[in-house]
Amino acid sequence: MKLKKGDNIIMLSGKDKGKTGTVSAVLPNLNKMVIGGLNLIKKNVRARKQGQKSQIISKERPVSISSVALMCKSCGKPTRVGFSIAEKSKIRICKKCGAEV
Ligand SMILES: [Zn+2]
Repeated sequence: MKLKKGDNIIMLSGKDKGKTGTVSAVLPNLNKMVIGGLNLIKKNVRARKQGQKSQIISKERPVSISSVALMCKSCGKPTRVGFSIAEKSKIRICKKCGAEV
């Protein structure tokens, strides 16, 4: 997984295309991630007991990793992530400006 929790991303497809958000959970098995406040689905919750009201709640639906791009903090552009092996530890770099992300 090239992205991790807390990364700032931009949506590349879907109804939230162009919007930015923060990764709130990563689902590596599914190649998907949950972006806080984006790709919401409305869910109808029916009242089960008397006195309860049915309500519509919004829930984030996981998005495919291929439909998001990382926002580079240093050049402020959506970018692909590259890896650079420095001193045995992998660091992620912006392919546009070369800064560590
Ligand atoms: Zn950059």
